[in-house]
Amino acid sequence: MGTVQTVQGAIDAEQLGLTLAHEHLRFRDEAVAAQWPGRYDEQAELDAALEAVSQAKARGVQSIVDATAMYGGRDVRFMKRVAEETGVQVVACTGIYSYDHLPHYFVTRDVDAMAEHFVSDIETGIQGTDIRAAFLKCAADAAGVTENVEKIHRAVARASVQTGTPIMAHSMPAVSTAPRQIEIFEEEGVDMSRVQIAHCGDSEDLDYIEGLLAKGVYVGLDRYGLEIYQPIDKRNATAAELLRRGHAERVMISQDFCASIDWFAPEAAEAFQAAGAIRNWSMTLVFDEVVPALRELGAMDDAIFHTVFTENPKRWLTA
Ligand SMILES: [Zn+2]
Repeated sequence: MGTVQTVQGAIDAEQLGLTLAHEHLRFRDEAVAAQWPGRYDEQAELDAALEAVSQAKARGVQSIVDATAMYGGRDVRFMKRVAEETGVQVVACTGIYSYDHLPHYFVTRDVDAMAEHFVSDIETGIQGTDIRAAFLKCAADAAGVTENVEKIHRAVARASVQTGTPIMAHSMPAVSTAPRQIEIFEEEGVDMSRVQIAHCGDSEDLDYIEGLLAKGVYVGLDRYGLEIYQPIDKRNATAAELLRRGHAERVMISQDFCASIDWFAPEAAEAFQAAGAIRNWSMTLVFDEVVPALRELGAMDDAIFHTVFTENPKRWLTA
């Protein structure tokens, strides 16, 4: 079935095994981290990543797809260290995670120039290493598909078409970004069976999700634990219905967990937890609560579990 690039080199796709399709070993702003490194505790971040990945490994996870791109502090050396110390395979990406802003560097360069940066990460290596990207990442959020967001999507699409690399697109169902994101990919000639629309599980609107599925994409039910966007029981109801309707081969279940994240001051993070905005968010929540609940609902058996957590990530990552 081909090979997949990991931070430790190319592996046979069959070796991916049980895979979490959307997580982050660390999430932080690379500009802030570069300018005020003293505000970050690298050891604590490493420890948090090792702990989270080890917990996942204890549930049988063999591979983690790390969706951290530019503006999320992507650092493939950090990822490689976690992979080496845990024995869990980590799959890295290229792309830009922006809801609108682009640096002048990319504003003044055209779509093809941006795409060439992504292709270099895919074909040569990332950040001066020989670690190669296995997929492309872009995002659309509350601001919608702005001019800059469209530029990133077109660059990602062109890099995908040129190299045969799959795409993960962060979406925001609350403002229905995905139909336009898909439209751009279609205009650029992307193979829609290699596209994963992330965060569809934030929606309970089955018509919306099935409208995306009709385009041939994968849908990510991938923010389990982020109650602020959708509580777990509602996410489960949506997941169960999609599985019952026969979409098992197009569903990704994950947590979008960040082993560490710098978006909020520590006291704010504690307040979110206390207020119920996040609940049991971890790299094992889907195995501890979600899979048992889906089995209870009669929506998941061993075969569907294998399809969702092993076959789907492998099929998405390989041609
Ligand atoms: Zn993510």
